[in-house]
Amino acid sequence: MEKTIVKKESSPTLGKVKPKSTAAHGLRELFVDSLKDIYWAEKALTKALPKMEKNATTPNLIKAIKDHLTVTEGQITRLEEIFDLVGEKAVAKKCEAMDGLIKEGDEILEGTEPGVVRDAGIIAASQKIEHYEIATYGTLVAFASTLGETEAASLLEQTLNEEKEADVTLTEAAYNTINFDALDGDDTDNDTEK
Ligand code: FE
Ligand code: FE
Ligand code: ZN
Ligand code: FE
Repeated sequence: MEKTIVKKESSPTLGKVKPKSTAAHGLRELFVDSLKDIYWAEKALTKALPKMEKNATTPNLIKAIKDHLTVTEGQITRLEEIFDLVGEKAVAKKCEAMDGLIKEGDEILEGTEPGVVRDAGIIAASQKIEHYEIATYGTLVAFASTLGETEAASLLEQTLNEEKEADVTLTEAAYNTINFDALDGDDTDNDTEK
């Protein structure tokens, strides 16, 4: 039996997105738009992290989240410095990705009982966030370098390294205790002293 595949008549413009009037014309504008996006994202995180901290049980996870909140506040100040360096006003523009990642984190909280299982979920959600940030700052470093904004590039690289560190800390928290305790489904005696 032969199937007839009906091909839609394709026009050269089909599926192509028409840019808004505010669309970036060059790499500099795309760079600044991305700065505004991550500025919003970092600010949103300062609101989301305390909630994650409050819902975590394992002491080293609580500490990791607390520490990263302090680091995140520093990253916001650093972004303001970067805006200054490149001669732009610090403006936050909603980051749809971070908004979604935070919502997914909330969903994980609702979907788990407090204890090591929820902790494993918090780590999973947090690592998705860190990976998004790592990707974003990696791109921002590259854009800044290409644009000859060396000072901004080096500041962005500092943040990139902090995000990578946070990711490693979360991985360690997961492998040291949480995932194994979660495997037992044991959230009553989660002894974390090592
Ligand atoms: Fe960050
Ligand atoms: Fe984004
Ligand atoms: Zn974003
Ligand atoms: Fe981070």
